[in-house]
Amino acid sequence: MEHRLWLSGPAWLQINESLWPVTSIDLGEEGLEGDQHIHTSLVNVREKEEHPLYELVLRRSSWSFILRTTVWVLRFAKLIQLGEFVTSKDLFIAESILIKMVQSKHFGFDIKQLVLGKECSEKLRKLRPLVQDGLLRVGGRLGRAQITFDQKHPLILPAKEPLVDRLVDYYHQTNLHTGPHLLEAIIRQKYWIIAGRNLIRSRVHACNHCFRRKPLAKPPIMADLPSCRVQPAKAFLHTGVDYFGPINITLGRRRGTSMYKAYVCLFVCMSIKAVHMELRSLWGSLFGSGNQFYRSQAGTFGSIHVFKFSGVYRYADGGIIHPGR
Ligand SMILES: [Zn+2]
Repeated sequence: MEHRLWLSGPAWLQINESLWPVTSIDLGEEGLEGDQHIHTSLVNVREKEEHPLYELVLRRSSWSFILRTTVWVLRFAKLIQLGEFVTSKDLFIAESILIKMVQSKHFGFDIKQLVLGKECSEKLRKLRPLVQDGLLRVGGRLGRAQITFDQKHPLILPAKEPLVDRLVDYYHQTNLHTGPHLLEAIIRQKYWIIAGRNLIRSRVHACNHCFRRKPLAKPPIMADLPSCRVQPAKAFLHTGVDYFGPINITLGRRRGTSMYKAYVCLFVCMSIKAVHMELRSLWGSLFGSGNQFYRSQAGTFGSIHVFKFSGVYRYADGGIIHPGR
Protein backbone atom coordinates (compact mmCIF):
# COMPACT_ATOMS: atom_id res chain seq x y z
CA MET A 1 0.00 0.00 0.00
CA GLU A 2 2.95 2.30 0.47
CA HIS A 3 4.16 1.83 -3.06
CA ARG A 4 4.62 5.01 -5.01
CA LEU A 5 2.14 3.91 -7.70
CA TRP A 6 -0.64 3.56 -5.13
CA LEU A 7 0.00 6.95 -3.67
CA SER A 8 0.76 9.13 -6.68
CA GLY A 9 0.11 7.02 -9.79
CA PRO A 10 2.40 6.88 -12.81
CA ALA A 11 4.80 9.76 -13.28
CA TRP A 12 3.29 10.89 -16.61
CA LEU A 13 -0.03 11.49 -14.89
CA GLN A 14 1.46 14.48 -13.10
CA ILE A 15 2.60 16.31 -16.23
CA ASN A 16 0.53 18.25 -18.75
CA GLU A 17 -2.18 16.20 -20.48
CA SER A 18 -0.83 17.13 -23.92
CA LEU A 19 2.45 15.44 -23.04
CA TRP A 20 0.95 12.11 -21.99
CA PRO A 21 2.46 9.15 -23.89
CA VAL A 22 0.25 7.78 -26.66
CA THR A 23 0.56 4.12 -27.51
CA SER A 24 -1.24 2.78 -30.53
CA ILE A 25 -2.63 -0.72 -30.24
CA ASP A 26 -2.33 -2.84 -33.33
CA LEU A 27 -4.72 -5.73 -33.06
CA GLY A 28 -3.69 -7.22 -36.37
CA GLU A 29 -5.74 -9.70 -38.32
CA GLU A 30 -5.43 -12.39 -35.68
CA GLY A 31 -6.96 -10.16 -33.12
CA LEU A 32 -9.99 -9.49 -35.31
CA GLU A 33 -10.54 -13.04 -36.41
CA GLY A 34 -10.12 -14.76 -33.10
CA ASP A 35 -12.63 -17.34 -32.08
CA GLN A 36 -13.79 -15.41 -29.08
CA HIS A 37 -14.71 -11.75 -29.17
CA ILE A 38 -15.67 -10.15 -25.95
CA HIS A 39 -17.62 -6.99 -26.41
CA THR A 40 -17.99 -4.91 -23.34
CA SER A 41 -20.27 -1.93 -23.32
CA LEU A 42 -20.72 0.43 -20.47
CA VAL A 43 -24.11 2.04 -20.51
CA ASN A 44 -24.92 4.68 -18.01
CA VAL A 45 -28.62 4.29 -17.25
CA ARG A 46 -30.27 6.92 -15.13
CA GLU A 47 -33.84 6.71 -14.04
CA LYS A 48 -36.03 9.62 -14.86
CA GLU A 49 -35.59 12.03 -12.02
CA GLU A 50 -38.65 13.09 -10.11
CA HIS A 51 -39.23 16.63 -9.03
CA PRO A 52 -37.33 17.18 -5.74
CA LEU A 53 -40.48 18.51 -4.12
CA TYR A 54 -42.34 15.38 -5.21
CA GLU A 55 -39.71 13.13 -3.65
CA LEU A 56 -39.88 15.17 -0.47
CA VAL A 57 -43.63 15.13 -0.04
CA LEU A 58 -43.90 11.42 -0.80
CA ARG A 59 -42.17 10.78 2.49
CA ARG A 60 -45.23 12.13 4.24
CA SER A 61 -48.21 9.88 4.76
CA SER A 62 -50.83 12.54 5.35
CA TRP A 63 -52.24 14.92 2.75
CA SER A 64 -52.51 17.79 5.23
CA PHE A 65 -48.90 17.21 6.32
CA ILE A 66 -47.87 17.20 2.66
CA LEU A 67 -49.62 20.53 2.09
CA ARG A 68 -47.94 22.13 5.10
CA THR A 69 -44.56 20.73 4.11
CA THR A 70 -45.04 22.22 0.66
CA VAL A 71 -45.93 25.58 2.19
CA TRP A 72 -42.70 25.62 4.18
CA VAL A 73 -40.69 24.60 1.12
CA LEU A 74 -42.29 27.42 -0.87
CA ARG A 75 -41.56 29.87 1.93
CA PHE A 76 -37.95 28.72 2.03
CA ALA A 77 -37.74 29.24 -1.74
CA LYS A 78 -39.36 32.65 -1.23
CA LEU A 79 -42.17 31.76 -3.62
CA ILE A 80 -44.76 32.78 -1.06
CA GLN A 81 -44.60 35.31 1.69
CA LEU A 82 -43.36 34.41 5.11
CA GLY A 83 -45.82 34.57 7.92
CA GLU A 84 -46.37 33.47 11.45
CA PHE A 85 -49.12 31.03 10.58
CA VAL A 86 -49.95 28.84 7.63
CA THR A 87 -52.96 30.44 6.02
CA SER A 88 -55.65 28.94 3.83
CA LYS A 89 -54.23 30.93 0.93
CA ASP A 90 -50.84 29.28 1.47
CA LEU A 91 -52.49 25.87 1.51
CA PHE A 92 -54.39 26.70 -1.67
CA ILE A 93 -51.16 27.68 -3.46
CA ALA A 94 -49.39 24.56 -2.19
CA GLU A 95 -52.25 22.36 -3.33
CA SER A 96 -52.28 23.97 -6.79
CA ILE A 97 -48.56 23.34 -7.15
CA LEU A 98 -48.89 19.72 -6.07
CA ILE A 99 -51.83 19.12 -8.43
CA LYS A 100 -49.90 20.71 -11.30
CA MET A 101 -46.95 18.50 -10.52
CA VAL A 102 -49.08 15.34 -10.56
CA GLN A 103 -50.94 16.41 -13.69
CA SER A 104 -47.77 17.27 -15.60
CA LYS A 105 -46.37 13.87 -14.65
CA HIS A 106 -49.38 11.90 -15.86
CA PHE A 107 -51.10 14.19 -18.36
CA GLY A 108 -48.19 16.30 -19.62
CA PHE A 109 -48.86 15.44 -23.25
CA ASP A 110 -52.57 16.25 -22.96
CA ILE A 111 -51.91 19.58 -21.29
CA LYS A 112 -49.48 20.57 -24.06
CA GLN A 113 -51.97 19.55 -26.72
CA LEU A 114 -54.79 21.51 -25.10
CA VAL A 115 -52.64 24.60 -24.64
CA LEU A 116 -51.78 24.43 -28.35
CA GLY A 117 -55.46 24.10 -29.17
CA LYS A 118 -55.17 20.51 -30.34
CA GLU A 119 -57.09 17.42 -29.34
CA CYS A 120 -56.05 15.50 -26.26
CA SER A 121 -55.68 11.75 -25.95
CA GLU A 122 -58.57 9.35 -26.25
CA LYS A 123 -58.92 8.54 -22.57
CA LEU A 124 -59.60 12.17 -21.62
CA ARG A 125 -61.53 13.26 -24.67
CA LYS A 126 -64.97 12.34 -23.35
CA LEU A 127 -64.37 14.63 -20.35
CA ARG A 128 -63.92 17.60 -22.72
CA PRO A 129 -60.94 18.77 -20.64
CA LEU A 130 -59.75 22.34 -20.41
CA VAL A 131 -56.64 23.96 -18.98
CA GLN A 132 -57.07 26.92 -16.72
CA ASP A 133 -54.19 28.50 -14.79
CA GLY A 134 -52.09 25.50 -15.75
CA LEU A 135 -54.51 23.08 -14.15
CA LEU A 136 -56.27 20.38 -16.13
CA ARG A 137 -59.98 20.35 -15.43
CA VAL A 138 -63.08 18.53 -16.63
CA GLY A 139 -64.95 20.61 -19.18
CA GLY A 140 -68.18 18.68 -18.81
CA ARG A 141 -71.68 19.89 -19.60
CA LEU A 142 -72.55 21.69 -16.38
CA GLY A 143 -71.51 25.15 -17.52
CA ARG A 144 -74.99 26.57 -16.93
CA ALA A 145 -75.55 24.88 -13.58
CA GLN A 146 -75.77 27.04 -10.49
CA ILE A 147 -72.92 25.36 -8.68
CA THR A 148 -69.37 26.35 -7.83
CA PHE A 149 -66.61 26.46 -10.41
CA ASP A 150 -64.86 23.49 -8.82
CA GLN A 151 -68.05 21.44 -9.02
CA LYS A 152 -68.56 22.36 -12.67
CA HIS A 153 -64.95 21.75 -13.62
CA PRO A 154 -63.27 19.38 -11.17
CA LEU A 155 -59.54 18.82 -11.33
CA ILE A 156 -58.54 15.71 -13.24
CA LEU A 157 -56.31 13.34 -11.32
CA PRO A 158 -54.84 9.93 -12.14
CA ALA A 159 -55.72 6.86 -10.10
CA LYS A 160 -52.30 5.24 -9.87
CA GLU A 161 -50.53 7.96 -8.01
CA PRO A 162 -49.33 7.91 -4.37
CA LEU A 163 -50.33 11.54 -3.81
CA VAL A 164 -53.88 10.79 -4.92
CA ASP A 165 -53.99 7.89 -2.48
CA ARG A 166 -53.13 10.30 0.31
CA LEU A 167 -55.75 12.74 -0.92
CA VAL A 168 -58.46 10.07 -0.83
CA ASP A 169 -57.34 8.95 2.62
CA TYR A 170 -57.51 12.54 3.85
CA TYR A 171 -61.10 13.01 2.69
CA HIS A 172 -62.03 9.62 4.09
CA GLN A 173 -60.65 10.50 7.52
CA THR A 174 -61.93 14.06 7.68
CA ASN A 175 -65.43 12.88 6.76
CA LEU A 176 -65.62 10.48 9.69
CA HIS A 177 -64.48 7.41 7.77
CA THR A 178 -67.40 7.52 5.44
CA GLY A 179 -68.20 4.74 2.99
CA PRO A 180 -67.08 4.61 -0.64
CA HIS A 181 -70.28 6.00 -2.17
CA LEU A 182 -70.48 9.14 -0.06
CA LEU A 183 -66.72 9.58 -0.24
CA GLU A 184 -66.84 9.48 -4.01
CA ALA A 185 -69.56 12.13 -4.04
CA ILE A 186 -67.56 14.35 -1.68
CA ILE A 187 -64.35 14.04 -3.66
CA ARG A 188 -66.13 14.76 -6.92
CA GLN A 189 -67.07 18.16 -5.59
CA LYS A 190 -63.53 19.16 -6.43
CA TYR A 191 -61.61 16.34 -8.09
CA TRP A 192 -62.27 13.94 -10.91
CA ILE A 193 -60.12 10.86 -10.44
CA ILE A 194 -59.84 8.69 -13.53
CA ALA A 195 -61.35 5.31 -12.59
CA GLY A 196 -61.75 6.81 -9.16
CA ARG A 197 -64.51 4.51 -7.97
CA ASN A 198 -62.21 1.51 -7.75
CA LEU A 199 -59.48 3.56 -6.14
CA ILE A 200 -61.83 5.00 -3.52
CA ARG A 201 -63.24 1.58 -2.72
CA SER A 202 -59.78 0.08 -2.36
CA ARG A 203 -58.62 2.93 -0.11
CA VAL A 204 -61.67 2.59 2.13
CA HIS A 205 -61.14 -1.16 2.36
CA ALA A 206 -57.47 -0.57 3.21
CA CYS A 207 -58.36 1.70 6.13
CA ASN A 208 -57.30 0.03 9.39
CA HIS A 209 -59.61 2.18 11.46
CA CYS A 210 -62.65 1.07 9.46
CA PHE A 211 -61.49 -2.54 9.50
CA ARG A 212 -61.18 -2.59 13.28
CA ARG A 213 -64.46 -0.84 13.86
CA LYS A 214 -66.48 -2.48 11.14
CA PRO A 215 -69.91 -2.82 12.77
CA LEU A 216 -71.64 -6.14 12.61
CA ALA A 217 -75.27 -5.95 11.63
CA LYS A 218 -77.46 -7.07 14.47
CA PRO A 219 -80.80 -8.37 13.25
CA PRO A 220 -83.62 -6.92 15.31
CA ILE A 221 -85.75 -9.17 17.46
CA MET A 222 -88.87 -9.74 15.46
CA ALA A 223 -92.36 -9.45 16.89
CA ASP A 224 -94.85 -12.30 16.95
CA LEU A 225 -96.25 -13.32 13.61
CA PRO A 226 -99.75 -11.99 12.84
CA SER A 227 -102.60 -14.27 13.73
CA CYS A 228 -103.51 -14.90 10.09
CA ARG A 229 -100.10 -16.51 9.59
CA VAL A 230 -100.38 -18.98 12.44
CA GLN A 231 -104.10 -19.76 12.77
CA PRO A 232 -105.93 -22.20 10.46
CA ALA A 233 -108.38 -20.61 8.06
CA LYS A 234 -110.01 -21.19 4.71
CA ALA A 235 -107.61 -20.91 1.77
CA PHE A 236 -107.15 -17.32 0.63
CA LEU A 237 -109.28 -15.99 3.48
CA HIS A 238 -106.25 -13.91 4.37
CA THR A 239 -104.34 -13.04 1.24
CA GLY A 240 -101.16 -11.21 0.42
CA VAL A 241 -101.04 -9.40 -2.92
CA ASP A 242 -98.00 -8.38 -4.92
CA TYR A 243 -97.17 -7.40 -8.46
CA PHE A 244 -94.20 -8.23 -10.57
CA GLY A 245 -93.18 -7.29 -14.07
CA PRO A 246 -93.33 -5.90 -16.61
CA ILE A 247 -93.01 -8.84 -18.94
CA ASN A 248 -93.55 -8.86 -22.69
CA ILE A 249 -96.29 -11.11 -23.98
CA THR A 250 -97.84 -11.88 -27.36
CA LEU A 251 -101.46 -12.76 -27.82
CA GLY A 252 -100.86 -15.37 -30.51
CA ARG A 253 -98.22 -17.41 -32.21
CA ARG A 254 -98.46 -15.89 -35.65
CA ARG A 255 -95.53 -14.00 -37.09
CA GLY A 256 -95.60 -10.28 -36.62
CA THR A 257 -97.87 -10.41 -33.61
CA SER A 258 -97.51 -7.32 -31.48
CA MET A 259 -95.83 -7.48 -28.12
CA TYR A 260 -97.66 -6.20 -25.09
CA LYS A 261 -96.35 -5.17 -21.73
CA ALA A 262 -98.00 -7.06 -18.94
CA TYR A 263 -97.74 -7.56 -15.22
CA VAL A 264 -98.43 -10.51 -13.01
CA CYS A 265 -100.56 -10.16 -9.91
CA LEU A 266 -99.57 -12.62 -7.24
CA PHE A 267 -101.99 -13.77 -4.54
CA VAL A 268 -100.47 -15.65 -1.63
CA CYS A 269 -102.55 -17.34 1.01
CA MET A 270 -101.26 -16.21 4.38
CA SER A 271 -102.21 -19.49 6.07
CA ILE A 272 -101.00 -22.26 3.79
CA LYS A 273 -98.81 -20.34 1.32
CA ALA A 274 -100.94 -21.33 -1.66
CA VAL A 275 -100.21 -19.11 -4.66
CA HIS A 276 -102.45 -17.77 -7.39
CA MET A 277 -101.13 -15.67 -10.28
CA GLU A 278 -102.98 -13.57 -12.80
CA LEU A 279 -101.75 -11.78 -15.87
CA ARG A 280 -102.91 -8.23 -16.37
CA SER A 281 -102.00 -4.84 -17.66
CA LEU A 282 -100.77 -2.21 -15.26
CA TRP A 283 -103.81 -0.03 -15.71
CA GLY A 284 -106.25 -2.84 -14.96
CA SER A 285 -108.11 -2.82 -11.72
CA LEU A 286 -107.17 -5.39 -9.14
CA PHE A 287 -110.75 -5.91 -8.08
CA GLY A 288 -112.46 -4.84 -11.25
CA SER A 289 -114.89 -6.85 -13.30
CA GLY A 290 -112.08 -8.52 -15.22
CA ASN A 291 -110.56 -10.14 -12.18
CA GLN A 292 -111.63 -13.76 -12.21
CA PHE A 293 -109.98 -14.62 -8.97
CA TYR A 294 -111.52 -11.75 -7.09
CA ARG A 295 -114.94 -12.56 -8.46
CA SER A 296 -114.57 -16.21 -7.49
CA GLN A 297 -113.52 -15.21 -4.02
CA ALA A 298 -115.93 -12.28 -3.69
CA GLY A 299 -117.17 -11.93 -0.20
CA THR A 300 -114.76 -14.45 1.22
CA PHE A 301 -111.64 -12.32 1.63
CA GLY A 302 -110.99 -11.73 5.28
CA SER A 303 -108.07 -9.41 4.73
CA ILE A 304 -105.73 -8.52 1.93
CA HIS A 305 -102.16 -7.56 2.69
CA VAL A 306 -100.54 -5.38 0.10
CA PHE A 307 -96.84 -5.74 -0.61
CA LYS A 308 -95.58 -2.32 -1.56
CA PHE A 309 -96.86 -1.33 -4.96
CA SER A 310 -98.18 2.07 -4.17
CA GLY A 311 -98.96 4.09 -7.24
CA VAL A 312 -100.63 1.22 -9.02
CA TYR A 313 -103.81 1.68 -7.04
CA ARG A 314 -105.41 4.73 -5.70
CA TYR A 315 -104.81 4.14 -2.03
CA ALA A 316 -104.24 1.49 0.54
CA ASP A 317 -105.27 1.93 4.13
CA GLY A 318 -103.58 0.02 6.89
CA GLY A 319 -102.53 -2.82 4.63
CA ILE A 320 -106.11 -3.33 3.43
CA ILE A 321 -106.42 -2.40 -0.20
CA HIS A 322 -109.41 -0.48 -1.42
CA PRO A 323 -110.39 -1.26 -5.00
CA GLY A 324 -110.90 1.56 -7.41
CA ARG A 325 -109.53 3.23 -10.49
ZN1 LIG B 1 -61.67 4.49 7.57
